[in-house]
Amino acid sequence: TKYPQGSEKQLLQAVLGKEVPLRGLPMDVGVLVMNVNTAASLARAVLRNKPLTHRIVTVAGHGIVQPKNLLAPIGASYGDLIEACGGLTADAARVLAGGPMMGFSLPDLDIPITKGTGGVTVLAERDLRAMRETACLRCGRCVDVCPMNLAPTRIALASRAGDYGLAHEWNLTACMECGSCAYVCPARIPLVQLIRMGKVMSKKEAVRKAA
Ligand code: SF4
Ligand code: SF4
Repeated sequence: TKYPQGSEKQLLQAVLGKEVPLRGLPMDVGVLVMNVNTAASLARAVLRNKPLTHRIVTVAGHGIVQPKNLLAPIGASYGDLIEACGGLTADAARVLAGGPMMGFSLPDLDIPITKGTGGVTVLAERDLRAMRETACLRCGRCVDVCPMNLAPTRIALASRAGDYGLAHEWNLTACMECGSCAYVCPARIPLVQLIRMGKVMSKKEAVRKAA
C-alpha cells in the first residue's frame, strides 16, 4: 500500500473501485468506512454495555526515550504518556498530537488525550533542522503526490495571503490534510499547515460576516 492508502476515499477506490465525489462522503456511494478500533469499541458498547474509556496510542519519534504503544485512559495528559515512555530525550524539540504527517504541535503537555487520539510524535532538533523553508521551486511535486488531485501550492499560498475566497476556488475543503505535499516539498514549505490554517480562518471569516 501507499500512503495515504488508509484514508477512506483511497481505500474505497482501491478495494471497491468506487470514486467518492470531490466534496462528498463515502455514504454518497453507499459505503460506510470504519476503522478496527472504532468497530471494536462499538461492539463492546452495544454487546457488553461497556463505555469507551481507553485508547491505544502510539508514542514515537526521535525525541522519546522508549517509543511504545500504550493502552491509555482517555483524560490522561500527553505528559503522562511521555512519562510512561521514559520521558523526553535531551534533544527533544517539539511534541505533536498525531503522527509526523498529520500531527499538530502541542503548546502544553497537560492537555488531555481524547477518544480521537491515536498517536504522539516527539521531534528532535535534528528533525527540525531539516525543515528550514525556502522559496517555491515550481517543481510540481506537491501536485503530483496529492491523492485528491489538488494544487497544494495554490491553496497554501492563497491561505498564507489571507485570500480564502481564492483558496476555496482551488478546493480548500477537499484537502484531507494527509501531509504528503509538505513531505515531498524540497523547499520545505509547510503546505499542509497553511492549508489547515486557511480552513480555520475561512470558517472564522464566514462566522464574522454572518454576525
Ligand atoms: S495535505 Fe496536501 S497532498 Fe494531502 S490532500 Fe491536502 S493538498 Fe493534497
Ligand atoms: S513541491 Fe514545494 S517547491 Fe515544489 S511546487 Fe510544490 S510548493 Fe513549490
